[in-house]
Amino acid sequence: MNLDFKKGNGLIPVIVQDYLTLQVLMLGYMNEAAYESTIENKKVTFFSRSKNRLWTKGETSGNFLVVKDIKIDCDRDTILIKAKPQGPTCHTGSTTCFKEETSQGFIYSLEQTIHDRIDKDDEKSYTNKLFKSGINKVAQKVGEEAVELVIEAMDDNDDLFKNEAADLLYHYLILLKAKGFKLEDIEDILKERSRQ
Ligand code: AMP
Ligand code: ZN
Ligand code: ZN
Ligand code: ZN
Repeated sequence: MNLDFKKGNGLIPVIVQDYLTLQVLMLGYMNEAAYESTIENKKVTFFSRSKNRLWTKGETSGNFLVVKDIKIDCDRDTILIKAKPQGPTCHTGSTTCFKEETSQGFIYSLEQTIHDRIDKDDEKSYTNKLFKSGINKVAQKVGEEAVELVIEAMDDNDDLFKNEAADLLYHYLILLKAKGFKLEDIEDILKERSRQ
């Protein structure tokens, strides 16, 4: 692979991502032996600076990081690994060593805003008004936006299409809330399907 181990005194930083969610799980370092072991065993193995030895993540917990893909950066001094975690990656029991919020995209913060408006019964909020008009009304709205999206899909105005797609996604999040669910619950279904 011709990695540049010299720059970091024999160690290269390695970013590990979940191969499905693309969440950043952790960062560690590899020396040449750790890298070779990772390639050979398909389990992410670091050189632990605290243990001062090769460390296969999961060696005691069983929460291995099974290698799905390895990429080297432009100047060959950083490694990016997509892995399938066999359990929580962080020793604290969290999925990732980084706070979950930072790895979640805008949609999740939008979902949080929607839930806040509703939970605080914000009088000025359209979201809250729609929510309070009842689940049938919310579901109907999702249906309308879906139809509008279908219509724009058959036309070729990109802006109108994207706007209707945004409308649908926004109302879809309100419907999930009205049914007592979060985007995460739906994500779990999709993740489960892609594991099969
Ligand atoms: P494991 O490799 O999961 O069997 O964990 C073995 C030990 O490595 C733990 O007791 C922790 O000290 C350490 N450790 C595990 N996971 C992490 C992590 N994500 N970041 C830093 N240290 C960890
Ligand atoms: Zn680099
Ligand atoms: Zn951690
Ligand atoms: Zn619309």
